[in-house]
Amino acid sequence: MLKKTMLLVVAMALLAGCPASEKPAAKAARPMVVTTLFPLYDFARSMAGDRMEVVLLLPPGVEPHHFDPRPEDIARIQQAALFVHTGAFMEPWAERVLAGTDRGKVLVLAAADGVSLMNIEEKGQGSRGKGHEEHKEHDHGEHGVDPHVWLDFDNDRIMVERIAAALSQVDPAGAQVYRQRAAALVKRLDDLDRRYREGLASCSSRMVIHGGHNAFGYLGRRYNLTYRAAAGVSAEVEPAPRRLAELVKLVRSTKSKAVFSEELVSPRIAQVISRETGATVLKLHGAHNVAKDELTRGVTFFDLMDENLKNLRTGLVCAN
Ligand SMILES: [Zn+2]
Repeated sequence: MLKKTMLLVVAMALLAGCPASEKPAAKAARPMVVTTLFPLYDFARSMAGDRMEVVLLLPPGVEPHHFDPRPEDIARIQQAALFVHTGAFMEPWAERVLAGTDRGKVLVLAAADGVSLMNIEEKGQGSRGKGHEEHKEHDHGEHGVDPHVWLDFDNDRIMVERIAAALSQVDPAGAQVYRQRAAALVKRLDDLDRRYREGLASCSSRMVIHGGHNAFGYLGRRYNLTYRAAAGVSAEVEPAPRRLAELVKLVRSTKSKAVFSEELVSPRIAQVISRETGATVLKLHGAHNVAKDELTRGVTFFDLMDENLKNLRTGLVCAN
């Protein structure tokens, strides 16, 4: 009996030892995907499932246009099997990080290569005020392209398919799974697009006045809305007082019921316009990044876009 117990103890000790020694190897076997922006992260994680570890590089709540990667971010990218960013026009900081990366080890995907880009209409955006020059290095306006490509759902379809192809390249055994999951995401994007088209077809106003930076140009173009923002395409640029006065005038002349505020920053600008005009403040989430509580809640790109549609329909007084 004693002998049996001894054997059992030895066996248990061996068993206990085994997983411990195997654990690090098993973890290392799961390739890591590092993504820069929330939509890329959300699409990649929904396709990768358990097969890969998907990481969002931006810490929660951090403004993405001027992000300065920390040494640990650079280390993470170097450990990754795949690095997904939008493109040089959105994350110039990614280019700087990648300069020191071994491209033989990390597959780098510019997900927005091949999407339909929109030129920036700086005219009337009022963002070229004092203090702008110091931000010039980070201002994507210098590329002449609006970086917010994910706010056109056709572009998302292209990015989903490109990410799926890159996942398959890193993990060929999962290729079929990635293809299926990409198809499911594309279907959800089609549904979302249809809901936007139908939901915004018949509204009392088509004027979207935004007390934030110029992020929704793609969305406005796609659904035939006139979009006016307080600041330029790059966040953290304070609008000129003249621009605020113009928006107040615009709310009055178009009898707009709402003024929209942006995510992750104070809604102060929208509130100022609201106080002057009586228009209601409603949120429009640009989805560049999410707040900590949103990340904890497991919010998805689709949740954010559904909430935006709801607020647009309220603010523009849409039928049905
Ligand atoms: Zn932006």
